[in-house]
Amino acid sequence: MTQTNVSLKNYNTFGIDVTSAFFSEITSEDQLISLLHELKNKPFRVLGGGSNVLLTANYEGHTLIMKNKGIEIVEETDEEVVVEIQAGVDWHQLVLWSLEQDYGGIENLALIPGSVGAAPIQNIGAYGVELKSVFQSCRAIDLETLTHKVFYKEECEFGYRTSIFKTRLKGKIILTAITLRLKKKPHQTKTNYGALQDALKGKQHTIQNVAAAVMDIRSSKLPDPKKIGNSGSFFKNPILSIKLFEEIQKRFKKIPFYPEGHDRVKIPAGWLIENSGFKGKRVGNVGCHEKQALVLVNYGEATGTEVLKHAELIQKEVLERFNIPLEMEVNLL
Ligand SMILES: Cc1cc2nc3c(=O)[nH]c(=O)nc-3n(C[C@H](O)[C@H](O)[C@H](O)COP(=O)(O)OP(=O)(O)OC[C@H]3O[C@@H](n4cnc5c(N)ncnc54)[C@H](O)[C@@H]3O)c2cc1C
Repeated sequence: MTQTNVSLKNYNTFGIDVTSAFFSEITSEDQLISLLHELKNKPFRVLGGGSNVLLTANYEGHTLIMKNKGIEIVEETDEEVVVEIQAGVDWHQLVLWSLEQDYGGIENLALIPGSVGAAPIQNIGAYGVELKSVFQSCRAIDLETLTHKVFYKEECEFGYRTSIFKTRLKGKIILTAITLRLKKKPHQTKTNYGALQDALKGKQHTIQNVAAAVMDIRSSKLPDPKKIGNSGSFFKNPILSIKLFEEIQKRFKKIPFYPEGHDRVKIPAGWLIENSGFKGKRVGNVGCHEKQALVLVNYGEATGTEVLKHAELIQKEVLERFNIPLEMEVNLL
């Protein structure tokens, strides 16, 4: 059912209070297609859990929230299962389901907010694992032809916090379901990430223990959006050529880095922001979180424009100090 003039405050984890002139919750693909026929040539946009967006203004169009549910095993062998999950399923609920079934592969991605349908958009990742490692395919509606399409992993152009859906196909498709390949026992867990190794000391590396450790670490260092509005990491960690990095390293000897392939390095954006003086600093209604400078927070009544202005100030200062441009990870809507 379509509602009008709906506040989106509870539909984005930043807690930004803007309205959408029209608003519908989508519970099936059929409903989506018939609504899209009605909306031909009218403005609309799609949201999942609203945990990776910054809403900067009231919207005169139609906001569609994906709420189609369902998890189904579509193939099974002795070693693995292929699972189809509808876009409106909550990502963390899927991780909990996989742990209950003892299916491995997404335990490191526990507690990432948002919907399953948005997970491929930026190829969600945490603690050394990205969605692409278990991803098989996704179903989508092509917004020009209003027909179904299937995208296999090779076509999705997954990269660090990106995919074809965030670049060339942005605004051209709506994902309705994804299929993942999850492993049965014996599991090969990925625990070489520093903090994870420490948290697992003396414990068996079962998928359940890995997920519990990830949840503990995340809860201790990331602000809970239910208590303080935020969208997780606001910027991507910049990736630089070794040549450029070495020039910067001459001036900033302590700059941390991680090899990215053989000719590039990744720099933690949080370190750059912290060393530009923003960590824990509040400016009006916005600021950078006291434990993780990469997370911009809304102290209550911030507008999207205030958050954006603060983000732009951070970009400017980091560029001036380190000569490194910061790219936003969050989607501006
Ligand atoms: C506290 C916190 C921690 C986080 N930690 C991580 C982390 O560790 N790793 C990580 O990768 N991310 C992290 N994030 C970011 C976020 O959780 C993910 O990007 C998540 O996948 C977003 O899902 P969503 O449903 O909320 O997407 P939304 O914010 O609703 O949408 C994001 C974008 O995808 C589009 N979109 C949404 N659904 C669809 C669809 N079905 N079809 C087409 N387009 C769609 C939207 O239009 C928008 O452009 C974190 C966020 C928070 C708040």
